[in-house]
Amino acid sequence: MSHHDERTFVMVKPDGVQRGLIGDIVSRFEERGLKMVAGKFMQIDEELAHEHYGEHEGKPFFDGLVEFITSGPVFAMVWEGADATQQVRKMMGETDPAESAPGTIRGDYGLDLGQNVIHGSDHEDEGANEREIDLFFDEEELVDYERSDAEWVY
Ligand code: ADP
Ligand code: MG
Repeated sequence: MSHHDERTFVMVKPDGVQRGLIGDIVSRFEERGLKMVAGKFMQIDEELAHEHYGEHEGKPFFDGLVEFITSGPVFAMVWEGADATQQVRKMMGETDPAESAPGTIRGDYGLDLGQNVIHGSDHEDEGANEREIDLFFDEEELVDYERSDAEWVY
């Protein structure tokens, strides 16, 4: 990992998995020049859901959010590149798909605030990326390698 690189946590939510959007979402980040360093198809249990979305505990949508994120498998990933956290957030669009520009992932596929297809660490929440990576992945699941097109990407 070169010094300007950063890692961020990204997840295709259950609606994105059910709708067959994993490949498209992975392609977008690959083509953008980010590097995947971990990926895991998994089912989130109640405990992990509460930890991951702890900041929203007590909000009116919290129970529905936990129910949704545990309703089916997700594809959890770690992506690396310059300012990866903010780049991924830009490519995702806004939290509300209705406010997301066409061309962003939520702008192209999101249905509503709940079913918004993708999660990415919040770049405005200091350390959220590292916290979420640690929550979902063991150290040995992060793969250190160079893309063969490394001189053209981050
Ligand atoms: P983001 O996923 O863009 O970081 P937040 O961290 O604010 O957004 O919220 C986490 C998730 O909770 C959102 O992606 C969305 O699925 C859900 N959510 C947020 N706000 C609402 C809301 N007002 N009503 C229903 N669901 C919401
Ligand atoms: Mg968030």
